[in-house]
Amino acid sequence: MSYFSDDEYSEDLRRNSAFQALNAIREAVSLAKRTHQPITYEQTLDLIHDLNADVYEEISDLLARKNESDWVKFFKEKAAALSIDGEEITPSEVIEKELKELEEIVAKDKSKRFLNKRILNYKAALEYFQPRKVSEHKILNRDFYLAERPDFKVSETLYKDDEYVDYKLQDDRILRLRLLHPDKPEHIIGADLIYEQFNLATNQARFLVLQYKTWNMSSLNLSSGNIASQFEKLDNNICKSGFCSNSKGKRTSKGYRFPYCSAFLRPTSYIVSGDSKLVSTGIHVPICEVLKIKETNKSLNKKNSKGKAISYKIFDELYVENMLGSRWLTFKELEEFYDSKEILSYTNRIRVHAQEVKID
Ligand SMILES: [Zn+2]
Repeated sequence: MSYFSDDEYSEDLRRNSAFQALNAIREAVSLAKRTHQPITYEQTLDLIHDLNADVYEEISDLLARKNESDWVKFFKEKAAALSIDGEEITPSEVIEKELKELEEIVAKDKSKRFLNKRILNYKAALEYFQPRKVSEHKILNRDFYLAERPDFKVSETLYKDDEYVDYKLQDDRILRLRLLHPDKPEHIIGADLIYEQFNLATNQARFLVLQYKTWNMSSLNLSSGNIASQFEKLDNNICKSGFCSNSKGKRTSKGYRFPYCSAFLRPTSYIVSGDSKLVSTGIHVPICEVLKIKETNKSLNKKNSKGKAISYKIFDELYVENMLGSRWLTFKELEEFYDSKEILSYTNRIRVHAQEVKID
């Protein structure tokens, strides 16, 4: 059992954390595949199944529920009422029993119009309790090349015991994907995505950090809880360490480019229930800009981040074209950066770590 199915935390909190994780994986894979259109949430759920089947069960239970009809509610209540200590009766069992009874009657006389209608309702309710089907058609195929190369182990020390999956991409590229989730968090503070690009021919790497936060009604309170301290930490560790600048310490370079900002806030919509439609909000706000907004505003919204945020439509392309995100670093510089910054130590957040590796 992981955080996602731990009753100690409110279902609402877990559901929205799950949605952030889903968005992080979706964004990483869309970026790696250069799809121009994000992959679908359905495809992302299938991918989570491939990464970790247990976590998939928990996440799909929180997010991929079908519409809860009155009959579903009825059978849930009935099953709960019939369950006595230690002996749990599932809604499916109750439905199957009642369904059998009706079908036996109808088998003798097919003209019973209302009974037939009720049979259809029961069957639909039974369908609700079936687990989501994972598609056979995979969005990514596994690759085993990197695993056989002992010389590729950048940031491996960070995740000694965590599992990863390598996937094939086009153009001699491989995507190493990790979905990290704390089992016993003191307090989950959301999800983040670390996206790195490695070039094994030049031995250089670039990175990007996206911090996911749920905003309600398109507004994020910048002083609530520990949000402010998290952003300040990111700003101190990344922007203020010079990662918003080029190698000469300038925010702009000779060529045409955005500043080298490498840490962004990604607001995600608030998900009310398991059968809510999943929609994403598309903006990326550089963390140093978030803090500037905070100087004069209580919360961040679409209006006050206008002109400071990059839409999802162009973000991937700008990153891939080296127009935003960190500069190219040597593997050693990147390792030293990770070693010196506690921001990447993994304790109380769900993390998607994606490493895109170009082989030659
Ligand atoms: Zn910055």
